[in-house]
Amino acid sequence: MLAGSKDMSLIRISIALVLLCCVPRAGLCQSPLDAQLAELRESARYVPEKAQVTLLQLEAQARAAGVPTRAEFISQLALTYMRIGQRDKALLLANEVVALGKQQHDNVALTKGLLVQSYVRYGMADLKTSHQLAAEAEKVANSTTDLPLRVQATMSAGQAFAEDGNFPPALKKMQEAVALARTTNAPLPLLSALSALIDLYDQMKQYDKGFENLDETWALASALKSPGRMASAKITEYSLSIDTNQPVRALKAQQEALVLARQIGATNLISLCLVNLSDSYLKAHDYPNTIRYADQALAAARGRNDLDTEATAYINIGQAYMGMGRLADGKRSMEAGMAQYEKSGNKPELQSVLMEYGQALEHAGDIGGALAIYHRERTISNELFEKQRQKAVWELQEKYEADKQLRQILLLSRENQVKTAEIDNRRLQQRVWWLLAVVFALAAVIVGLLYRKVRHANAQLEVKNLELKAQSSRDPLTALYNRRHFQEFMRAHTELEQRGSGPTGEDIVGALFLLDVDHFKHVNDGYGHAAGDAVLKMIAENLREILRETDMIVRWGGEEFLAFLPAIPRSGVDDIARRILAGISSHVIDYQGNKISVNVSVGFAPYPLIPAQHPLPWERAVNLVDMALYLAKAHGRNRAYGVRGFINFEKTSMEAIEQDLERAWRAGFVDLAIVLGNQPEQPAPTEPVSSVASCPSAPLIVPAST
Ligand code: GH3
Ligand code: MG
Ligand code: MG
Repeated sequence: MLAGSKDMSLIRISIALVLLCCVPRAGLCQSPLDAQLAELRESARYVPEKAQVTLLQLEAQARAAGVPTRAEFISQLALTYMRIGQRDKALLLANEVVALGKQQHDNVALTKGLLVQSYVRYGMADLKTSHQLAAEAEKVANSTTDLPLRVQATMSAGQAFAEDGNFPPALKKMQEAVALARTTNAPLPLLSALSALIDLYDQMKQYDKGFENLDETWALASALKSPGRMASAKITEYSLSIDTNQPVRALKAQQEALVLARQIGATNLISLCLVNLSDSYLKAHDYPNTIRYADQALAAARGRNDLDTEATAYINIGQAYMGMGRLADGKRSMEAGMAQYEKSGNKPELQSVLMEYGQALEHAGDIGGALAIYHRERTISNELFEKQRQKAVWELQEKYEADKQLRQILLLSRENQVKTAEIDNRRLQQRVWWLLAVVFALAAVIVGLLYRKVRHANAQLEVKNLELKAQSSRDPLTALYNRRHFQEFMRAHTELEQRGSGPTGEDIVGALFLLDVDHFKHVNDGYGHAAGDAVLKMIAENLREILRETDMIVRWGGEEFLAFLPAIPRSGVDDIARRILAGISSHVIDYQGNKISVNVSVGFAPYPLIPAQHPLPWERAVNLVDMALYLAKAHGRNRAYGVRGFINFEKTSMEAIEQDLERAWRAGFVDLAIVLGNQPEQPAPTEPVSSVASCPSAPLIVPAST
């Protein structure tokens, strides 16, 4: 059991290398070159030297082909360099494939390039880069429809996890790879995926599960009649058997594997089988066979840059010599093996070998040698510990940096959110202000418009009111004041008078004149109602001319007019009556060819009339004037009768006078003025006129013409 840990890691590395590079891809409608490359791919796994010669012969043709063929060719060539230990050349070619895939946007080519890079990095013990590349390759592969390639990439990603000791995701990937491989219906991808799965179960110490899948793997390899594949299956069986403590089965499987590998001259496999066999014999303390196989392994590995195989072989030989008591030979061989490990930089392996070497020396009684080895082991152990510690510190630092960055990003994003919210808020506020401003402006405009409208309506209303007022106080035909207006006017006038603002002085008085057109009916009857209207308008017009603007002229009734003169000399009252009579009768209107003229009869009196101390109310004054008009009518028309005043009033009463003006006049209680109109063809005076002369105080008769 001296080389227990050492041999297993060697087997795993070797199997992984074989598996990683071995998923073949089925090609439909392959060109002869592609078919040849497919064949070479399988043989190159086991006999890379030979395959490389053929590949190099195809180089010119393959490089001139399309991107897929070119990428496949360069990948394979790279793998052969890797397998024969020329890793730098392999890496250059892998880089070329990656560049080609990126340049041509061909993800199949890119995946192939990334995978080869990953495998070469693994061979260079740069596990971190190798694993990153495997993960990237899987991602890119999943964007393609190349199922065998995806199986290979998924497996590689799983192996990367396994190498990190991260078994749960590794198992997940391997199971995915197997499931995907089953969908391809091709035996080779499934065989590769199953082998990788068994290897993982072995590492996870789930040996039963490993053995469960072993039969299917063997069956697939046998069906393919591929000695290389069968040898690989046997090596897998060897590993499981060793780990489950079945040395006889292990030895048998390994010997069968060696026979198969030799059939095809697969040098890698052969040296692996040989070193494994020497391991097996060492465990069985069969030192001669240990040395025999180890020597063969050395011969097979030499010149192939397979330092680990060489190192293991030397160690096995050294241990065998020591077991045989040949301490010096043993020590020499052990040193040679450890030098190889130093060269390959495999410190963990070196440490474990040193530990076993020290124990063996102690066992052989070389205490001084054992102590020296012990010190070397401690130094390496400390180195490894320091490296691990540093790695842990770096990882922690990286994690801390990442966490810090994440926190900063979160902080920034939160700040951003707050700022965005603030900006949104400000924008919202601005919008609200704008909205308010617009609303206020609109409201102001509307209020302004309404105000203007109301003002306009009010102005119109005022005009209408004025019109209405004018209409209500005017007679529509003649535009003179109407009777109602006069009544209102007289009420106001009376109030003013009572306050003492009436006409001042003895000789200035007001005067009332009431006119009635004589025989107006004849006009209507003779010329029509419209002619009558024209006559009425003419009279109104005449009255405006005859009287002053300050005098109030009223249409009193149908063909009756009233004039109120607020202030005239008392002596001029009769004259006004005369002017009215003459002015109207002198006017002739031409109505539709008819010359029409009319006379009027007038009743009049100064205003106010004061029979005793108290002035007569205006209504009674008008009534008296109306009675005078009646007298004028009765005494022949075309004349004016005016009540100048009262005589011997104490002997009568106002009521008696108002009851019968003519009788009161005849009885001498009333002073009447009589103004005659022009009467060109005056018939003989009528009876009432002649009675005037017999009046006690004869009325003054003034002809209108004078
Ligand atoms: P007298 O000399 O006695 O006053 O005779 P008269 O015909 O003038 O008097 P009467 O009272 O008999 O007739 C008045 C007429 O005036 C009757 C009526 O049809 C007419 N009249 C009243 N108002 C108007 C009016 O606005 N237009 C017209 N065309 N005629 C009117
Ligand atoms: Mg009348
Ligand atoms: Mg009349």
